[in-house]
Amino acid sequence: MADCIFCKIIGGKIPSKIIYEDERCVVFHDINPKSRIHLLIVPKKHIETVSKVTEEDYPLLAHLIKVANKLAKDEGTKGYQLLFNVGKEAGQIVFHVHLHMMGR
Ligand code: AMP
Repeated sequence: MADCIFCKIIGGKIPSKIIYEDERCVVFHDINPKSRIHLLIVPKKHIETVSKVTEEDYPLLAHLIKVANKLAKDEGTKGYQLLFNVGKEAGQIVFHVHLHMMGR
């Protein structure tokens, strides 16, 4: 998606420090962290929001959780929150699915 900031990060058009990447997702630090460690786990596939995923995308969402669990362990978090904001009324500001991992 030409206008999507996360697609631009994934495509290397906006500089960012990607700390993990595989064939399905990338991970980078949130620019405005709300916890000691605040990562965004972002699928390479552009999907606007979690309420718009199709049946075929559920394994992708499970993969995001798997990556979040691994990185939470690697980063030495004691506990962490996993969060999808869904819709602008819930605080979603970037309309490309992303899982927040906020670790303590
Ligand atoms: P949400 O409110 O769920 O849409 O979360 C979007 C998150 O993306 C916010 O926590 C922002 O701080 C973060 N964010 C926006 N632009 C960037 C960027 N260029 N690099 C890293 N994080 C970003």
